[in-house]
Amino acid sequence: MNRMRELIDTLNKWAYEYYVLDNPSVSDREYDKLYDELKELEEQTGVTEFDSPTKRVGGEPVKSFGEHEHIERLYSLDKAVSYDELDAFFTRVKKAVAEPQYTVEYKFDGLTMCLTYDGGKFVRATTRGNGVKGEDVTAQCLTIKSFPLAIDYKGLLEVQGEAVIRLSVLENYNKTAKEQLKNARNAVAGAIRNLDPRVTAERKPDILFYNVNYMSEGFLPTQEEHFKFLSDNGFKVFPYLRLCKNEEEAKRAIEEIDLERKNLDVLTDGAVIKLNDCAARDTMGYTDKFPRWATAYKFEAEESVTRVKDVIWQVGRTGKLTPLALVEPVELAGATVKKATLYNYGDVLRKDVKIGSKVLIRRSNEVIPEILGAVEHAEGSVPVEKPAVCPYCKSAVEEVGANIFCPNKKCRPRVVGRLEHFAQKDAMDIEGFSEKTAEQLNEILGIEKCSQLYSLTAEQLKLLDGFKDKKISNLLKSIEKSKNVPQERFLFALGIDGVGKVAAKDLTKNFQSIEELSNASAEQLVQLENIGDITAEAIENWFKEPENAEELAALLSAGVNPQRKAKTVVGAIFAGEYVVLTGTLNRYKRSEAQSIIEKNGGECQSAVTAKTTLVIAGEAAGSKLEKAKKLGIKIIDETAFENMLN
Ligand SMILES: [Zn+2]
Repeated sequence: MNRMRELIDTLNKWAYEYYVLDNPSVSDREYDKLYDELKELEEQTGVTEFDSPTKRVGGEPVKSFGEHEHIERLYSLDKAVSYDELDAFFTRVKKAVAEPQYTVEYKFDGLTMCLTYDGGKFVRATTRGNGVKGEDVTAQCLTIKSFPLAIDYKGLLEVQGEAVIRLSVLENYNKTAKEQLKNARNAVAGAIRNLDPRVTAERKPDILFYNVNYMSEGFLPTQEEHFKFLSDNGFKVFPYLRLCKNEEEAKRAIEEIDLERKNLDVLTDGAVIKLNDCAARDTMGYTDKFPRWATAYKFEAEESVTRVKDVIWQVGRTGKLTPLALVEPVELAGATVKKATLYNYGDVLRKDVKIGSKVLIRRSNEVIPEILGAVEHAEGSVPVEKPAVCPYCKSAVEEVGANIFCPNKKCRPRVVGRLEHFAQKDAMDIEGFSEKTAEQLNEILGIEKCSQLYSLTAEQLKLLDGFKDKKISNLLKSIEKSKNVPQERFLFALGIDGVGKVAAKDLTKNFQSIEELSNASAEQLVQLENIGDITAEAIENWFKEPENAEELAALLSAGVNPQRKAKTVVGAIFAGEYVVLTGTLNRYKRSEAQSIIEKNGGECQSAVTAKTTLVIAGEAAGSKLEKAKKLGIKIIDETAFENMLN
């Protein structure tokens, strides 16, 4: 028996070196020799230990997959496809957590798995499924040699990882396969969710672990500790986890991953950004679908190298001058790219972009491609000059931080940008209104303000190039129609700095009218989930500016009538209440409780703010409850909530 244990331990150590560390210490022949000895011993004694490597052969095909409920739900992650969306995530985090630290890691594109251990022994492998229940793929998973059957940790444990097939393995497989596998992602899903474990074994998948989903004893205080725990227990962990002290560092790490992933043997489609501190995560909690403390930044991009021919400066509606690189045409993701953006002058310097240089250019989810950085300077490369005057109206520019502004509000590109922003689909949704329309309205009719759109006449529009009867009447109709705009779209249309669609929604939810909002202080505004201090400041200042107040009044008196959703029912149980749910309720799902409150006239909030009037605290309520106590907000338990309903 001692010999059997000795053989198992030695073989497992060798397998660990080979499959997890990619650092074999013995030849295949030496391994096979001991393996055969073990197999023979097992046949003689009729005993097979739980962690014997002989357990890792495919076994017979199964008829169907069993189901298994994960101990803790496996959440998927919210996605960000642009830096705007990523910034919205950072803003939400900073509102909930002081001085947050982030971790950034690779997001692998495969099949998410959950492995269960008990008493130090591997019990079961399941797919993520819908997050609550997954398919039992233990037999298939056993053929994967890069995870341990025995671990040091002795409690009940569920760990999460991504099953992947290495690109080199896929290539080899395709060399001899009857049926070619198109991509690594489908290949791995097909390998694991295959009733025949021999197919799984043939395709040689691997699992990269990144999360401890549940542990019965102990607590891992940070994401770094998660990685360390996994690694210490013999799981394969991809050796990249960047701890970032702020958003800038996190973005640098994302860019680093984006560059490096091209050289990787595994398919990646993004970077995962998490709050490092697990206690801080609890204060943020979860939405119906996602943790609020993590997000996946998705790369859906294609990149190429091209040469910068020139850099010109564009003026936006806020007056900001944005450098635009004109590049030698290059094919990217099915389109011919001739220009690419840079954020500001600081970005030009940081990315070391010069006219004449070769640069790495990326076309991603955003419409205009961006420059990632210089690859090589030519002999005659010329530095990009910082503009001293507006390229359009020649006003002397103003510098604010890393940005440069044209201060002239009547500068044509600014006016055109304002009109275009106002008319766009997500704002007033004026159909048939293009950039060209905005240009002509300004150039030919001298329109400078959005409110002037509402007094346009057919006679005036006849003066514009390409405007015939039909087009004129359509445009006038859609301008008229835009008057009954939802309030959140109206707020977005106003073009207040920092007020994007998400912030506009938040403002609409929390203020009954534009008038109420116009009187709000920055202090009040910053309480909202999606409003950071700079935006709060900008909103307060926007309404204080006489010119804006005048324009707002002009819009309203022209008949623009922002619509709110149906007013709350007076006399309803929760009328006028701003309610926060925290902790676990026994008799209601959180989404059920929310919809009951909303049906009865209440507004549900995601966080306790000065506006909150009622907190419903279930079991194990945490920081939200503490905050409510501090603020002296009325707190009730589940029973009291039920009594209110009856
Ligand atoms: Zn200008």
